[in-house]
Amino acid sequence: MSPDRAVLRRALERGEQEGGSVEFKERLTEHLHLSEGRLESLAAQLRHRVLSGDGEATYVVGVTDDGGLAGISPEEFSESMDVLSLLAEEASAHIEEVKTWGVDGVANGDADADHGIVGVATIREGAVLEDDDHIVVGTAGHVDHGKSTLVGSLVTGEADDGEGSTRGFLDVQPHEVERGLSADLSYGVYGFDDDGPVRMDNPHRKSDRARVVEESDRLVSFVDTVGHEPWLRTTIRGLVGQKLDYGLLTVAADDGVTATTREHLGILLATDLPTIVAITKTDLVTDERVSEVEHEVERALREVDKTPLRVERHGVETAIEEISETVIPVMTTSAVTRDGLGDLDAMFEALPKTAGEVGDFRMYVDRTYNVQGVGPVASGTIKSGEVEAGDDLLIGPMQDGTFREVQVRSIEMHYHRVDEATAGRIVGIALKGVREADIDRGMALLPADADPNPVKTFEAEVMVLNHPTRIGEGYEPVVHLETVSEAAAFYPEGGQLLPGDAGRTTVEFKFRSYLVEEGQKFVFREGRSKGVGTVTDVTTD
Ligand code: GDP
Ligand code: MG
Repeated sequence: MSPDRAVLRRALERGEQEGGSVEFKERLTEHLHLSEGRLESLAAQLRHRVLSGDGEATYVVGVTDDGGLAGISPEEFSESMDVLSLLAEEASAHIEEVKTWGVDGVANGDADADHGIVGVATIREGAVLEDDDHIVVGTAGHVDHGKSTLVGSLVTGEADDGEGSTRGFLDVQPHEVERGLSADLSYGVYGFDDDGPVRMDNPHRKSDRARVVEESDRLVSFVDTVGHEPWLRTTIRGLVGQKLDYGLLTVAADDGVTATTREHLGILLATDLPTIVAITKTDLVTDERVSEVEHEVERALREVDKTPLRVERHGVETAIEEISETVIPVMTTSAVTRDGLGDLDAMFEALPKTAGEVGDFRMYVDRTYNVQGVGPVASGTIKSGEVEAGDDLLIGPMQDGTFREVQVRSIEMHYHRVDEATAGRIVGIALKGVREADIDRGMALLPADADPNPVKTFEAEVMVLNHPTRIGEGYEPVVHLETVSEAAAFYPEGGQLLPGDAGRTTVEFKFRSYLVEEGQKFVFREGRSKGVGTVTDVTTD
């Protein structure tokens, strides 16, 4: 048993005790645990656990009351973490760290555990790190293509031995150490001050992390996106409280571009995340092979209408200036020789927070809850513009397609009440003029003078990332667009879409209309099939 697995064992052994700091939960749901009354009592319980543990509590999720391993799906776990982060917020605390274990082993690499997972969340008193000089990077890439190692080598400054020594520095998940796999959520932070990088000596030590945060003028956190969109949208909230700024996709020089690489790339780009591609493990192959993989990567990028930019050729400065939703810097790295890692440092030292879009205020509701004495709160990431307490807004579309006038009672941004908030921030907006029961995920908030035109049907350009056969008329995936997750029917132009091909289709939500706008990106999936799309026309309703 690795030392890390002992974390779970110890928590289970200590068990839930009256006046102790450990709490067992099978799962937490928005529906049950954020309901009126329940939220407050659970937050009080959490507060109590935190105080009992001298500022630190442990929540074991996916276990029964008596500590049996129940195991819940990654989606359920994600929702549980989301709820837990809100409870923590309510109790003036935050989730500091999450570790998960597959109950019955991991089925395929970085993806989800087939038999459910259990997790241990460490809750700490006080606010989470949050600041404009903190960029959050989501990593993705085929399993074993060097994500953890690259992050480990960046945050510690140490070279890897090619056998997993560096990723051992990180808070990798216990089962991964055993199995040599990785699906960690939050796994590294480093920073910069006037003299350059401020790195971890030993990321296992909390004090070391605190020192880096303290000494740095700018911080870079890495979060694993696990190639798993629900995590992308939700759990990250609890860990960093802000949206991802950049994607970092690894492609191992020996394996090259794989189906998983393409899938992850598609999803990163579908979420409009400016992304850097790092070709890793260049020490293992010849120069010819490196340029072969560079070409493979460039082809894969061009296929999805992106422009690759070779950092070695054009320089870091150019890459920093040019990186965008369409220009993708490609660099070659080795964690063993640390080739290319200096360039990555230079990028991370200078890359701006990806400013939210300017323009009118827009926020898609991610979740809602009632807070006693405050009323309904809609939370989500501000997509564009800014919002102030007292603003008049519209929310909708309601079931009947209309928008309702509401007023902003107050704005919560992590534990603090704020007077205003701008694009990119995750906020809870308390609303006057609407009942919580009337607000759903996927609705939009926008200025009172907007003239929104919700639609049930729209036209899109889509690309099937992986589907065994053609997609025909009436294919019914779930469409994830902004915070909308809704079944929709596809009616492809010409009757079908082929895997790997881009094509046009009409998309029709099955049950209701949403505010959809041209240019919005979305992901769709049905069973094992998955694809990405861009909204091209919303006037066909
Ligand atoms: P992940 O699954 O994408 O997080 O991949 P890991 O970071 O766990 O790396 C998988 C294996 O590749 C480990 O044994 C690493 O030591 C090894 N590795 C990672 N990067 C490099 C590299 O640049 N060069 C060499 N030779 N091995 C590497
Ligand atoms: Mg890993």
